[in-house]
Amino acid sequence: MMKAAVLQQFGQPLALADVAVPTPAADEVLLQTQACGIDGTDLKLCAGFGYTPQLPFIMGHEIAGIVRAVGSGVTDFAPGDRVIVYNFLFCGRCVYCLTQREQLCLNMRGVMGVLQRHGGYAEYVAVPAQQLVPIPPSVAWEDAAVCCDALLTAIHALERSRLRLGETVIVIGVGGVGSVLVQLARLAGAQVIAVDHDARRADWAAENGAHVFVDSSAEPDLAQKLRALTDGLGAACVIDVVGKQATMHAAFNSLQRAGRLVIVGYTPDHFPVPGKQLAQNELEIIGTRAGRRSDLSAALNLLAAGQLKSIVRYRYPLAAVNEALAHLRAGGALGRIVLTYHA
Ligand SMILES: [Zn+2]
Repeated sequence: MMKAAVLQQFGQPLALADVAVPTPAADEVLLQTQACGIDGTDLKLCAGFGYTPQLPFIMGHEIAGIVRAVGSGVTDFAPGDRVIVYNFLFCGRCVYCLTQREQLCLNMRGVMGVLQRHGGYAEYVAVPAQQLVPIPPSVAWEDAAVCCDALLTAIHALERSRLRLGETVIVIGVGGVGSVLVQLARLAGAQVIAVDHDARRADWAAENGAHVFVDSSAEPDLAQKLRALTDGLGAACVIDVVGKQATMHAAFNSLQRAGRLVIVGYTPDHFPVPGKQLAQNELEIIGTRAGRRSDLSAALNLLAAGQLKSIVRYRYPLAAVNEALAHLRAGGALGRIVLTYHA
């Protein structure tokens, strides 16, 4: 048996329970969880909004662990290996998988810790071997874990943005993904303006490399403020990690000519796009979803090389998972909250 935090009913705290250790199939491994990140998707899952897995369900989609057993068909991994998990259970055969865009797979069989397959809020988890990426020795468990979503999403979004040396970029939302985006934009040689509705994130944004911080809660006209900060020109690129009507609208109106708006975060909101402005200014609106499996290797390499700083600020044991979720729900948390499983 093993300890697991089980979502038994939407809107209720997770139940700490003893459940059976999963048995890996022939093409799977059994991981002993070492760290698992917590993010907004988990809050949505708890509330039954957006994703509705069949209950009871074990959440946790930022998983780092040690391989403890392998199925009969697994040859690439062995007990003792340190690995992280790519969450999208991709088919490997469709046009998107064959072009290394597994997050767009046409035959997705689920998402680890989100849909169909139990995740890392448990001492052990069974994972198909094709989902695993090895962790370099110098990367800590907690930092490796948050590669699975926070770093993955930021790296892919930056690639989608086509950010170039010397450009000005605005990052709206300096949570987990936004923090990494600020770091990456700085690494890419851009002038970085960070925006958040929580003024408590000003110092944090600076620590991550932002040149300027804008408290959007204090700005009645955010686009006007952002234009003023860019000499009236606007930014070459705006990356919206929030995706609310107000942020998308401000982002669109902060673009310079030929500017690119990248939508990372989303809500049920829409925003009006004036066709004339889009056409005559040659603007681009770009969507981005999580990332490719290969982006996990890029994330781990950046951490191993010391190019990215840790965004993990809070650690909780599995037994305190409900406190950890409450911490995130309360707002004001900086970077990432992680469950750690061993001293
Ligand atoms: Zn596929």
